[in-house]
Formats: sequence, structure tokens, C-alpha cells
Amino acid sequence: MAHAEIHQDHSIDAADLAALAGRTLAVIGFGNQGAAQAANLRDSGHTPVVGNRDDEYATAASEEGFDLRSIAAAAEAADIALLLVPDEVQPDLVRSEVAPGLRAGDTLVVASGYNWHFGLLDVPDGVDVVMVAPRMIGAAVRDRYVDRHGFPCFVSVERDATGRAWETTLAVARAIGGTLGGAIVSSAREEAALDLFSEQAVWPAILDVVRTAHRVAIEAGFSEEAVLNELYLSAEPAEVFAHVARDGLFGQLGLHSRTSQYGQLRSLTALDEQGELASRFARVMHDDILSGEFAREWSRPEAGERLEALHREVAASPIAAAEAQVRARLGD
Ligand code: NDP
Repeated sequence: MAHAEIHQDHSIDAADLAALAGRTLAVIGFGNQGAAQAANLRDSGHTPVVGNRDDEYATAASEEGFDLRSIAAAAEAADIALLLVPDEVQPDLVRSEVAPGLRAGDTLVVASGYNWHFGLLDVPDGVDVVMVAPRMIGAAVRDRYVDRHGFPCFVSVERDATGRAWETTLAVARAIGGTLGGAIVSSAREEAALDLFSEQAVWPAILDVVRTAHRVAIEAGFSEEAVLNELYLSAEPAEVFAHVARDGLFGQLGLHSRTSQYGQLRSLTALDEQGELASRFARVMHDDILSGEFAREWSRPEAGERLEALHREVAASPIAAAEAQVRARLGD
């Protein structure tokens, strides 16, 4: 069994935290993660500069009292730049506005591993590249810092040009609240691969289960209203998943009736764990994700148009049409 190292507030010594002393932190992008991490850095005693284009996000940063600059000026001022703009805009933005401001000895902090792992970020030589990636949406990064519950976070050193990149990583993670919940030592490769694996293996399988269950139940003569409520409109699956996180994958079974428990376990244990699903998941992990094939496809200019076409295709499917009708009847 492979286990990762975990760092929490109490296990970090003062020498590691000194990595931020006298260095200017810049938050590039004031969106979901940017606004939350900038506020957490400030409450941890730092004075981050914020870099954003001149629009409503910039207005919000100014109104909250941050030292707002253009992205290029914030990168220029930065000793440590936290790159918190959407993944798809990072390669061009880093090339045109962030990299020109970075000097040897500076640190670029990414919050997801995708662009770095797949070779899409051009970062000048001599600049450390590290990952501090919250496993949490931005609003909760802020709320859980304030209430001291914390959130899990993946951390890694991707390029250690200075020999001090690890200390910087840990100190940044601590300053945004990432060691309250536990900073798990990972890598850009692992973070990107697991994210893509959830998106391309796990969630499509779950969506397919719902779609297939809908078709079979409708063919058996049941009403759209009953079927869709049973499957997801009631939000019962969301409740079950919340209990999975709290009580365990099988620990939550105690919340269901004994009839339900017997039915679920009888069916689950009859499934072939090494069957078609396992082969499909392994294909997605190795052939699509780890090979870089998906990243190459998604980087092609025509990928955006294909995404629009795929949205149109699923919007025209029977379950989407039925859902719209049921929602309208229920006054949703
Ligand atoms: P957002 O979509 O919230 O980022 C919006 C910010 O990016 C705004 O400041 C926006 O400024 C700026 N921006 C958008 N497009 C451009 C552009 N073309 N040029 C310059 N600035 C631009 O991003 P997130 O906070 O969701 O994600 C940031 C990073 O955090 C990503 O790497 C993501 O993978 C990671 N992450 C996100 C999580 C989440 O839950 N959202 C969880 C963990 C990690 P403008 O006003 O100019 O539009």
C-alpha cells in the first residue's frame, strides 16, 4: 500500500515558515481561489499584491483593500507568484505577462498540476515551480480558514532551482490554511492524473448508470416523474454521498433499511470487480491520461468547438428532454 507524507500546522517548524520572510507574494487572478487565498494570506500576516485585468474582479480586490496592479506589474513585483487564473488561460498568460516578470530565485506556485505536468507552462530557468493545490472550492477555502476547520491540500516541488523550494511550498501552504486540514505530499503528475481520472472515468460511469437506469425503468412502464425523482431529482443521492464521506463507503449502509442493505450487497458482491468497467478505467488512465493523449487533444484549437457540439448532443438525449418536462410540471 502506498502512503503519502502529510504535513499539519503542528509538524512545521519555524525555520520552514521563514521562507516567506521579506519576500513579496503576488496573487495572479482574483477569482474563486484568488480572492480566498489572498484573504487567507493577509490574515496570516502577509501583504499580498493582487494582479488582475481591469474589470469587476479588480474592483472587488480594490474594495477589499488589496494592492491591485496589472498582472504584468504584479508578476514583476513578485518573489512568489500564485497563479490563480483558469487552467486554460495559463499557458498564454504566463508566456505573455507572468514569465517576463519572474527572475531567478523567484517561485511560481500553481494550484493544479495539469499545465505544468503536460509541459504547457514556459517558466524561466532559475525560477522554482511548486504546487499548492487545495482540494476545495474557493469559497470554502476562505470559510474553512476562518473557522479553522481547514481543507486538504496537495503539495509538491516540481522544480527546485534554489534548493529552498520545499520550505517555500510548506510556508505558502500554511499561509493559505492548507496545513490546517493536512498538506499531502503529491506531484503535479498525480494531481493532474487523479483529477482527469475522476472526470473521464468515474463521473462518466456515474452519469451512464443514471442514463441507463432511466431508460430501463421507462421501458418497464414507470412514469418520468417517479423515475427521475427516484434517480436524482429528490437529491437523495447527494445525501447518500455526504454520508459516504462522513460514515464510510459501507459504513453509511446502516442508514438504509435492511431490505435495501440486503439488495445492495447482494448485487454489489455479484459484480465482477475485474470486468469491463475495470478494463475501461485502466484504458482511460493509461491510454488517454498518462500517455498525454487527452492533453494533446484538448490543446488543439478545434477542441472548444467539439465541446459545444458534445453539449448539444447530450442536451438532445431522452433523459434531458424528460428532465426539462418534469421540472416544468413541478414548477422548478
Ligand atoms: P477562476 O475562474 O475563478 O479565475 C478567475 C480569475 O482569472 C479572475 O481573476 C479573472 O479575471 C482571471 N482571468 C480569467 N481569464 C483571464 C484571462 N484570459 N487573462 C487574465 N486573467 C483572466 O479560477 P479558479 O479560482 O477556479 O482557478 C484558479 C486555479 O485554481 C486553477 O489552476 C484551478 O485549477 C485551481 N483550483 C481551482 C479550484 C476551484 O474549486 N475553483 C480548486 C482547486 C484548485 P478577469 O476579471 O480578468 O476575468
